[in-house]
Amino acid sequence: MANFRVHVLGAAIPSALAAGLAIAGGLVTPLVGGVCFGLGVLGGMLPDIDAESSVPTRILFGALVVGAAAAAALALYDDAAPWLAAAAAVAAFVAVRVGLRGFTAWLCVHRGLVHSLPFAALVGVAVVLVASRAFHLAPTQAWLAGVFLTGGFLVHLALDELSSVDLLGARMKRSFGTALKLGSRRQLLATAVLYAGVIALVAMSPPADPFVRDVTSKRTRAAIAAAFARFP
Ligand SMILES: [Zn+2]
Repeated sequence: MANFRVHVLGAAIPSALAAGLAIAGGLVTPLVGGVCFGLGVLGGMLPDIDAESSVPTRILFGALVVGAAAAAALALYDDAAPWLAAAAAVAAFVAVRVGLRGFTAWLCVHRGLVHSLPFAALVGVAVVLVASRAFHLAPTQAWLAGVFLTGGFLVHLALDELSSVDLLGARMKRSFGTALKLGSRRQLLATAVLYAGVIALVAMSPPADPFVRDVTSKRTRAAIAAAFARFP
């Protein structure tokens, strides 16, 4: 298992490069590009949330709980009475905290379903949905945000898998094959629910075509080339 620092760096470097390209290509504003970078790094830490007391778990839980409270307060700030916004913030704080505890207890086995490809897809599509519905991002930007999270997640799984190959001895450690997988044979029902969840979220998400079209378009490539040409 690769350690925490390797995971953060391993996700941060490609995320920074990709975010830079996305901004240069005019796909996202610098702000959204920065958020994408953050999501990529988050994705690199996310898979280890199933290890109860790991560093990423504590950081992530703290961030998620505070983020949920802030989001609840902001959402109600304009239309509701201040005390209601405050109460909602506290409620969100408690709900997310308790919910996350229960969630990790349910996942329980480290290297269980969380370290799987469908879980990587699930968290990404969830971001697409939140980005488009709650933050009203255009489909291209919303999908890009989701791809960053899933990308960071995949980097984590790949690093875990790499670290279970003993390069010097040229043999596989026992943990090989436990990180990059399509599901869990011991948790068939949960695996099925996971796939159903991915399909449901994709169905609710904005179409991905504009994202694919924009990312592969000549205009984007030309914008990136132009941005690089500005450097001597
Ligand atoms: Zn891991």
